[in-house]
Amino acid sequence: MQHEEDGYIVISCDFCGVDWDEVIQMIEGHHGSVICLDCLKKAMDDSIEATEKYTCTMCKGEKGEGESVWRNTEAKERDGRNKHAAICWDCVRLGAKTFHKDKDVEFRWDPAKYPKK
Ligand SMILES: [Zn+2]
Ligand SMILES: [Zn+2]
Repeated sequence: MQHEEDGYIVISCDFCGVDWDEVIQMIEGHHGSVICLDCLKKAMDDSIEATEKYTCTMCKGEKGEGESVWRNTEAKERDGRNKHAAICWDCVRLGAKTFHKDKDVEFRWDPAKYPKK
């Protein structure tokens, strides 16, 4: 997400709240939503089945009960948003593939290890 600090636009991860420092790896979703590589990795490992309908923060897609979802339960509350940010499996895969293609990122997506949920 983007927010203003001292008159500057700061981009920060919607899921953990870390500010982008032009070094850490992040991926943008729709409407300025952002997830950092650390959160994406956690989402790959810790996605669970949603117990209720939710809206994916990254693609704004409406997801039903039982679909894969990840929220950062350890997030600090910042602008009241980070704990509520949710990412669907489609966005996790898309993000993983994007990082995979980026040769500046030490991250490789292994589809065999993470089959489509
Ligand atoms: Zn993050
Ligand atoms: Zn999504």
